[in-house]
Amino acid sequence: MSGNNIKVVCRFRPQNSIENREGGVPIIEIDDEGTAVHMKGKETQGTFAFDKVFGMNTPQKDVFDYSIRTIVDDVTAGYNGTVFAYGQTGSGKTFTMMGADIDNENTKGIIPRIVEQIFDSILDGPSNFEFTVKVSYMEIYMEKVRDLLAPTNDNLPIHEDKAKGVYVKGLLEVYVGSSEEVYEVMRRGSNNRVVAYTNMNAESSRSHSIVVVTITQKNLDTGAAKSGKLYLVDLAGSEKVGKTGASGQTLEEAKKINKSLTALGMVINALTDGKSSHVPYRDSKLTRILQESLGGNSRTTLIINCSPSSYNEAETLGTLRFGMRAKSIKNKAKVNADLSPAELKALLKKVKSDTVTFQTYIAALEGEVSIWRTGGTVPEDKWVTMEKIAKGDFKALPPTAGFKSPVGGVGQDDSSRPQTPAVVLEKDEKDELMRRENELMDLISEKETELANRERLLEALREEANDYREQAETTTKENQRINSDLSELKTEFRKISYECKENAITVDSLKEANQDLMNELDELKKSLADVKSAHKDNVNGEKERKKAEMMAEMMSGFDASGEINEKKRQIRDAIIKLDGEGSGSLSIEDLVSLRRDLEDSKVLLEQHSKTINILTSDKEVLDKKKAELDHKFGTLEKEYEELLDKTIAEEEAQSNLESEYATKKETQQKEIDELKHELDRKNDHHQKLSSAMNDLKSANDQLQTALSGQPHPTQGREISEREKELDRMRKIMASQLGEFEAMKKALMRDLQARCEKVVELEMSLDETREQYNSVLKASNNKAQQKKMAFLERNLEQLTNVQKQLVEQNGSLKKEVALAERKLISRNERIQSLETLLKDAQEKLVSQNDKFESQLKAVRDRLELARTQKSQNTMSVNFSRIVKPLRGRGNAVNAAEDTENVTSPATDRRSTWALFNSR
Ligand code: ADP
Repeated sequence: MSGNNIKVVCRFRPQNSIENREGGVPIIEIDDEGTAVHMKGKETQGTFAFDKVFGMNTPQKDVFDYSIRTIVDDVTAGYNGTVFAYGQTGSGKTFTMMGADIDNENTKGIIPRIVEQIFDSILDGPSNFEFTVKVSYMEIYMEKVRDLLAPTNDNLPIHEDKAKGVYVKGLLEVYVGSSEEVYEVMRRGSNNRVVAYTNMNAESSRSHSIVVVTITQKNLDTGAAKSGKLYLVDLAGSEKVGKTGASGQTLEEAKKINKSLTALGMVINALTDGKSSHVPYRDSKLTRILQESLGGNSRTTLIINCSPSSYNEAETLGTLRFGMRAKSIKNKAKVNADLSPAELKALLKKVKSDTVTFQTYIAALEGEVSIWRTGGTVPEDKWVTMEKIAKGDFKALPPTAGFKSPVGGVGQDDSSRPQTPAVVLEKDEKDELMRRENELMDLISEKETELANRERLLEALREEANDYREQAETTTKENQRINSDLSELKTEFRKISYECKENAITVDSLKEANQDLMNELDELKKSLADVKSAHKDNVNGEKERKKAEMMAEMMSGFDASGEINEKKRQIRDAIIKLDGEGSGSLSIEDLVSLRRDLEDSKVLLEQHSKTINILTSDKEVLDKKKAELDHKFGTLEKEYEELLDKTIAEEEAQSNLESEYATKKETQQKEIDELKHELDRKNDHHQKLSSAMNDLKSANDQLQTALSGQPHPTQGREISEREKELDRMRKIMASQLGEFEAMKKALMRDLQARCEKVVELEMSLDETREQYNSVLKASNNKAQQKKMAFLERNLEQLTNVQKQLVEQNGSLKKEVALAERKLISRNERIQSLETLLKDAQEKLVSQNDKFESQLKAVRDRLELARTQKSQNTMSVNFSRIVKPLRGRGNAVNAAEDTENVTSPATDRRSTWALFNSR
């Protein structure tokens, strides 16, 4: 062990892949003795000397053997020991401290080797010595001490105690009996470490981790005990924040980490500059915990880990400078011993004799002082001195004043523990201050924990508040939506009611219009009927007149009666003549011709009667035709009406109607033609009849002339005969004439009737034609027809519209009623929703309260469970029960350790020797 100075060793790791990739080259050169390193960087050139410098390929074992092995020996001997690893992230701190693989003989680091060595030394130790090994594992993260073996304790206070020195209060200490148990503890602890990802090294820790191994040894013979504490510290990366690429929360972390590292630098500066009276241990938790290791009661080794690469030149320089400064720190390591009863007795005896000496000294001094006070003088050779008292050649003077403690200056306490540099204080004051500080530390950590809890709670509350805010927002939105819906509905309702009113008005006006139109229609109908009846009257009158005219015309055309009458008259005249002139006046020829005439007349009559018969049949036919025509007319009228209806209904069917009319017209025309033809034929007949009548007339004329000729006087008898015959003939003639007359009369009657019929037929034909024309006209007369159709259509439309409107009105009324009902129901729904919302909000609030209280309870329970669990786990896995170990070596004589061997052997604890643990 090189004095009490901090031992500083420097270790370079090989260049890593990043450095190689970035074109970094090694810029260090280690001298042959391995105690100095020459830096040959672009910006830095210089030599740094350390206790030892390890090159890039130094095996783990060499590092341990040189720099650590002795420390373990010291700790087992009751000294405090500290091993620091300092350096930038990725410089090999963890590799050095823990190693790449704990189970690999070559790559395992310092800690596994230390642990092994501890147990080896214990086993090699004397058998009358009992050892206990305790391990605790903590991390300082964001200026908070967190117990890695009981992670719920995340803000432990740091206390100071006269006997214990600086320690972390409440830190779980696990008793271990073997290396494996230590590894297990450390593994578990490592899992709880806070590790943040950085660009430099994913494994890099942003926290300081401290493993504390406490070894207590007790001489079973004397009861004397010694305990040594070994601090194994893996510091957080010393690099600057920028290079890690850390940001956000990690930037905060880095600042705090750098703060504690800065504090470490400041402490080292204060310890080494020789000027500072104050060492700022309390500036950070790290320096406070490591107070004993820096300038205090500890054998300390600092391993500075560096990169050899030009890529990390600046960081390496910083690390080397830090090591250089730390090198000159002086520690005052001392064994932490608990005295055995024998030692204590001896000490007591010595103290008692000292007390007597001091009392004598005090008494002598008081005597001298009282002489001085009373104005007397004491010669110089009589002055009281300690030497004289010690020699016993001084007689005590009677005490005249109170006892005054001779203590002052540097605090000397009962503890065997040396003090780290501190402000010089009165002993009581110091105790008081220490107590006060501890209390304050407790309070601070309590407050910090509370603060953290509150922060967490605040965060949770904030989240909750945000949730509520969101909920409120959604509710508000929903409300707004509902409100807008409501207003929309309202406006819709208003619109509907307004429309309804409007519609009602329209319906009313339409009703009025409809009524007007109906009235108009009625009037029109009436006028139409009037017109029709007038027309009919007119037509009837016209008909009569026409009929008379036509009859006159026709009868004038062939006045057969006149002719026949004439003939009749002529015949009668001839007979009278005959009667008057006598029988002899007629010649045989005349008679013959008369007879012939008569026969002709008969034939003519027959012919006439035949013609009359034909005419009768014709008349019948015509009658039939007339009936047919009437019928047709009727149907036509009907059709016309229908057609009119149709025309009104479908104007577009007009053309069809026209064509229909055209065909009808054609057929009628044909019929008319036929009738005309028939009439012509009849006229012919009449003409024939007239001509026959003319013939008859002429025959009568002849007869008359014949009768008017001279009769022969010589032919008396013949004449009488002839007269007789003539008489007979006359009679016959007269009867025939009567017959003829009757026949003629009948014929004339018949003819007249027939003519009448023909005229009627013609008239009806005309009428039909006219009607047809009027129909045609009516169908052609667009204006009238249109007007009619328009009116009727209008009427129909209006009726339809009215109907529709009535319907619409009805449906609108229904809709309005529906909308009103809907609105009412919606209003109710909205009201119910609002009350529901209110209820829900109230519920939410109450639930929130409940939830909060539950959450709190759950949190408390969780916390409790966690503590219990971790404690259980610990108690199961890492026993908190003392596991005393004993060495296999020969028992060391108690006299070697203490002066007076009283060997109380009062420890009744069960011991657990590690004889065959390996
Ligand atoms: P730190 O703890 O300082 O952040 P690490 O110990 O994690 O750095 O080392 C970073 C990387 O470098 C690891 O992969 C480690 O194995 C490697 N390494 C560090 N030192 C050495 C060395 N001396 N020899 C070989 N590899 C090393």
